[in-house]
Parts: sequence; structure tokens; C-alpha cells
Amino acid sequence: MSKETFYITSPLYYVNDVPHIGSAYTTIACDAVARYKRLRGFDVCFLTGTDEHGQKIFKAANDKGMTPQAHCDFIASKFQELWKLLDIKYDKFSRTTSKNHEVIVQEFFNRVYKNGDIYEANYEGLYCEPCEDFKAAKDLLEGNICPVHKTKVQEYKEKNYFFALSKFQDRLSDYFDKNPDFIQPSYRKNEVLGWVKEGLKDFPISRQSVKWGIPLPVDTSQTIYVWFDALIGYLSPLLNDGDLVNLENAMKKYWPSSVHVIGKDILRFHAVYWPCMLMSAGYPLPEKVFGHGFLTKDGEKMGKSTGNIIDPYELINEFGTDAVRFYFLKEVAFGKDGDFSRETFINRINSDLANNLGNLLNRSLNLVNKNFNGEIENTNSDLLSLKIKVEETIKSYEKHIENLDLKDALDVVWQLVDATNKAFNDNAPWKMIKEGKVNEAKACLYETLEILRNISILVNPFIPSTSVKMYEQLGFDSFSLTSEWDCLGIGKKSQFFKVLEGKPIFPRVEDKMQKAV
Ligand SMILES: [Zn+2]
Repeated sequence: MSKETFYITSPLYYVNDVPHIGSAYTTIACDAVARYKRLRGFDVCFLTGTDEHGQKIFKAANDKGMTPQAHCDFIASKFQELWKLLDIKYDKFSRTTSKNHEVIVQEFFNRVYKNGDIYEANYEGLYCEPCEDFKAAKDLLEGNICPVHKTKVQEYKEKNYFFALSKFQDRLSDYFDKNPDFIQPSYRKNEVLGWVKEGLKDFPISRQSVKWGIPLPVDTSQTIYVWFDALIGYLSPLLNDGDLVNLENAMKKYWPSSVHVIGKDILRFHAVYWPCMLMSAGYPLPEKVFGHGFLTKDGEKMGKSTGNIIDPYELINEFGTDAVRFYFLKEVAFGKDGDFSRETFINRINSDLANNLGNLLNRSLNLVNKNFNGEIENTNSDLLSLKIKVEETIKSYEKHIENLDLKDALDVVWQLVDATNKAFNDNAPWKMIKEGKVNEAKACLYETLEILRNISILVNPFIPSTSVKMYEQLGFDSFSLTSEWDCLGIGKKSQFFKVLEGKPIFPRVEDKMQKAV
């Protein structure tokens, strides 16, 4: 029997600049979900990539004295480099300047065109180049200033090809009614319903003046609007090598996507434009669009101009990959806005990872090595009274992560970590040993190691290399993606531990910068 598929996408990141912490955050979250689904035995496709067309890219390349393609190649490589540093295990990297993509976009355009949903008209409007989008006068600040970019929008007049979005008004409303979970989290839905209620307006999907783009099949003097092009980037990389390059082949295995994970700023493109484009072309819609929140630093908006930014490279260099992954997934409720501060970051690592988890592992391994030659067997007791807590943790972890409540999933795991620390300290196996209660000490240690083994599986999607380190110190060889999930629960894998020497999995961080103050 073939495995059930799960297709998750991050946004395709715009290559106007090197990757920033926001893109890293989204991609880490997608990676955690993809890793979880692999653990559950799904045939997972996790796609990330780069969106590489448009006037802004052309200009950025020009400013650096590069060709647009060389610029795109360079920035795309920076994304791939950062994903490697962050232990992001993607299956497909989509690039909208790839040859396959161009063929697929043109086929998609032709289908929509043949279905009568594209027409020619003159367009007059106000255009914000950094947004790559038209603005309604009412949404602008005084003097026609874009509220996002604080720059003057341009008056724009040219012949364009339009997508007849307005035709899909009723069908889209209907779809939202019938699929109440389509937009997640639920508090983002009202915003989208509001746009639909205002009335969907046709929008131009070609540009006369933009040369860095995919030529329109029906009029090569124009290029395809960067958003129309980029959204199709979720389809084109699904082709396998050797496939005939067409939409049918691209869609046959993983489409429709299980979830598109995006930032809340690009919700309209994914929850309105994209579904209507797919309806027009006659293809099924994604199952879910999840719009997450934004990050701030020390409570303030991040921005290059203010110097208030987090450099993902610096953070990884200083604290390591898993610390970075852990912080953003545990500190920020996925969906809501979240904040980064150096102090909270260091506290999280020290308290959650170094103390609560790391010390528990270290102390129990040391006791087993010192007193029992590294070997402990199951005595089938429930001395710590945590058997039920473990079962409950697994169940609610599963529920949360299926809802993409990633923070909640980690929170229940850390409640188990805390409960185990408490039971361990209350029972004090080192005292039991001194008092000659060897069987009780063994029961206490076996159960603690078993809970740690369970935890090593549950944290695997979030902090994969720490998970494997724990697993190996507990004496197991290779973490198996296909079978570990079935071994969750006390006594479900082995009745016996032969552990390795305990080495700190997370050394405490001393904040040098804080000391200097
Ligand atoms: Zn703008």
C-alpha cells in the first residue's frame, strides 16, 4: 500500500535581499511539521524556495552591477546555505527562474486564458513598487505614500491583461462556507471574509514595463505579474526528473497541498487570488492556508534602517542550531506575533534545555553508570506514577501539532519534563542506593530513562540533533524515522537499557554581553 501524502510549503522568499530571521522562522516551523509527519509515516513533500522575478529584483541586481540571473543565483544559494545551517530538511527547492517553471506558468496562463478569465484593458492606478502591488487611494497615507514602505507610490497607466477575479466572488464565498478550516488560525479568517465582502476586483496579471519576468504566451511584449508567477511555484517543482513538463504530471502525486504556511502579510494572495486562479484553471484548491504572525525585537518592529534586526547567522554561530529552532517554536505561539529578546532567549536555553532537560538526562545517566555499570532493566512498576501522564502527553502533543499549535505541543512535553524532574527529586534514587533499596532505585532509573527516550522522540521534529544525541546517550543506535513513533509509551521499545556516558547536551550559556554592561 502506498503511503498517504502530506504536502507542506513555506512561502517562496523574494530574493531582493539575503534571508532574514522572519524567513528563517517560517521555514523552521514548516520543517518541524514536515519532520513530525515523516515520523508518523507520511510520504512528505516539504517545499521551500525563492521568488525571483519582478522590477525590484531587476533593480537590486542592477545596483550591484550583476545580471538579474546572477543576482538570483547568489541569493538563492544564501537561502540554501542558511537552511542547511538550520537543519531544514526540505524535499523541493522551488526557483521561479527555472526553465520548468516558465513552461508550467505558461501552461497555467493558457488554461485560464482559454477559459475566458483573462482579458485586455487599460489600467490606471497607483502602484507601490516595493510591494509589487496596486494600492487603493484610501489605503495610502497623505501624499500617496505607501504605509508599509513610506515611499510615494507611482501613477501608472498602461495596457494590461486582467484576471477576472470578480467572476469568482460567489464560488469563493461558497468554498469558504463549505471549508470552514481553510484559513488558519481562525482569527485570520475574518480579515479574508472582509475582503471578499467588499467585492473581488479584477486585477492586472501582466506588466508592460517589467522585463525581468516570464513572457505572456499571448503577447510577448508583456511579462506575467510576479505574484501570478510565484504562486505557481508551488506546482512546478513537483515534477520528477524525466517527467514530461506539464501541469498534469506536476500535480499527480502531491497536489492539492495539505497546507501553505505563510506570513500574514501575504494572506490575500494565498487565500483569495490563488484559490480563484486554481478554480479558473480547473484544479483542486489547497486544503489549508496558515498565516502566522510577525516577529519583533525587544518589543519593537524590526527594520534595517533602525538597525533593530536579528541576524540569523550570528544567532546560530553563538548559540547553535537547535537553540535557535527551540526558541522560536517554544516562545512564540505559532500564528500570533512574537518577540525576541536576548535575555529571554538565554533564559529559555538555560532553564528549559540546559537545566530541566539536560540535567535530568545527565544525572540519571551518571547514576546508572556509577552504580549499575550502565545497565538497568524494567521492573514493571510505576514508582514515579507517571505512566498515565506520559500517555496523556503523547495524545495532547499529537492534537496540538496536527493543529499546527507548535508551541502548545512543546509546552506539554516540557510539562512532562517538569513532572519527571519533580518525581525524580522526590524519589531521590541516589538516596535509595545509599539505603540499600536497590530495586526501587532501579525502577526509578528505568522509568526516568524511558520517559527521556519518549521525550527524545517527541522533540525530534523541533530539535532534531539534540533528539538524536539524547537517544544515543540512552544507548540506542540509530533513530529510525519509520518506527520510533510506534515505540512511544513506557516499556514499548526495550525492557533493558545499556547507556553511554552522559555528556551535557546543552551547556549553560553565560551572557558575555550582559556582563560587559
Ligand atoms: Zn509598499
